[in-house]
Amino acid sequence: MLISPRHFIDRLRHPRSRADELASLRARFAAQPNRRQATTEQRCLATELRQLRCQLHDALQRVRSCGHCAKGHPLPAGRWNGGHCCSGKTLDLFTPDEVGALKLSGTAASTLCPPQSDHAGCSFRGPSGCSLEPADRPNICVRYICGELRQELRGGPEHQQIASLSKALAETFQRFVASRQAAELLRVMESDGDQ
Ligand code: SF4
Repeated sequence: MLISPRHFIDRLRHPRSRADELASLRARFAAQPNRRQATTEQRCLATELRQLRCQLHDALQRVRSCGHCAKGHPLPAGRWNGGHCCSGKTLDLFTPDEVGALKLSGTAASTLCPPQSDHAGCSFRGPSGCSLEPADRPNICVRYICGELRQELRGGPEHQQIASLSKALAETFQRFVASRQAAELLRVMESDGDQ
């Protein structure tokens, strides 16, 4: 198999499994519409999602659960103490809809920098957490609240704010996905009409 220079360099710098996932992720970014190809509604929703990710991440800064939730779990989750929810597969987290939203809001695959560490779950998971800025993470990463974290937040001062930002993020993402589906349906109907 012929690999790109970037993929080759990643294989020198990282475990092969991470390098290969990063190459697949870059291909997924390339396949998504750019701002010129997207609708105005999609561009606006993607920008709104980016802002909500940053706001929700800021509101979650004081939580403690995320630093030890993976302790004692089997690999890959237990490789480090924190970030159990980051131990899934990169491309299952960076779905085409998530990547579509990231790309339209200004995230470029070339700027996503993984940690220099073992590959244990998502390619961006490392010993000190996620190596990406919150704005560059999939929406699910920022709004996912596990049982332990929910317990920690319950009754706390930020609970209401976090719940409402999380709801807004989920609903805005649903609108973004629906908008993409509607645009795709229209495209298929138009192409059928041309034949
Ligand atoms: S992008 Fe970051 S927050 Fe999301 S799963 Fe990967 S390591 Fe975790």
